[in-house]
Amino acid sequence: MRTPEEILPALGRLPLAREEVDRGCEVRAREGWLEQVWTRAESRVLWVSGGRAPVLGGQLVLTRPEGRLPAGAVYLGRSTADTVPGAGPRAELILLVSDDHPPLTGGEAGGQAVSSLEDVAWVGLRDVAAALTDRDAGVFVEAVAIANWHAVHTHCPRCGTPTEVTQSGWVRVCPQDRSEHFPRTDPAIIVTVTDHQDRLLLGNNVAWGPSVYSTLAGFVEPGESLEAAVVREIHEESNLRVHSPVYLGSQPWPFPQSLMLGYTAVTDHPDEAAADREEVAHVRWFTRQELEDAVSGGEITLPGSASISRALIEHWFGGALPEPRTLQN
Ligand SMILES: [Zn+2]
Repeated sequence: MRTPEEILPALGRLPLAREEVDRGCEVRAREGWLEQVWTRAESRVLWVSGGRAPVLGGQLVLTRPEGRLPAGAVYLGRSTADTVPGAGPRAELILLVSDDHPPLTGGEAGGQAVSSLEDVAWVGLRDVAAALTDRDAGVFVEAVAIANWHAVHTHCPRCGTPTEVTQSGWVRVCPQDRSEHFPRTDPAIIVTVTDHQDRLLLGNNVAWGPSVYSTLAGFVEPGESLEAAVVREIHEESNLRVHSPVYLGSQPWPFPQSLMLGYTAVTDHPDEAAADREEVAHVRWFTRQELEDAVSGGEITLPGSASISRALIEHWFGGALPEPRTLQN
């Protein structure tokens, strides 16, 4: 049997791609599964409110189920983190979503009981992901992603009737025409473009500050392969024709529902680089020395450590670059 490290893509273990939870796809479809799990002593609840979860000492705070099972609960799976000493007990994990921060009673963080919940902070995934354990990062990503889907898929896309949640929160069914609706993910490619001198192309998006530079990216269109999306998006945003796209790794990016697929690709004509001025304001080529100087001198800011863009840039660079001060996407 291969270890997780042996089946990892070139980018390695990305901050938002660290699943330590067995999602239990075969059990969650059972009638009454969530009700049954709710009554178990080893079950734990993760609250998410506005994309934020309770965090204490760098760990997610999980609470025990209390009272009746609330509407809108989602089964997240069984924690497999008991194989990691000190990372928490084997637990059934249930997501509850709240509009505001609910008062927490009786919680634990990292498998340790929390005596006081006064210091709990409600923190967004991007801000805390890189610091969390594998189990906590994985379950937080899963929770935010499924919560985001439910939030905007309340009605049947065929007839407009409000849908009903089934299969422990993983399917919505229309009571009118019985159509079933499953959680959606939008694939997006993100690319390190290089030239024959192995320089890296980065772009400054019109929506960011002028000093923020990142890899180029875009959504895959219906009926399009990932490789075709790489070639099309890079040409649209930078005027460059690229070839030889190579897949390097992926991670979910549930803001609100993307899956980022990291590629590298090559151009034969780097001098033709020109920003589209609609989405990308500037494009710029960097040697490794130029990028290191620009980052350490504060001239440019790179994406945050939770992003695949950061991992792609550092994969090309061959090591870590200084941390950015603010940007987290
Ligand atoms: Zn319908």
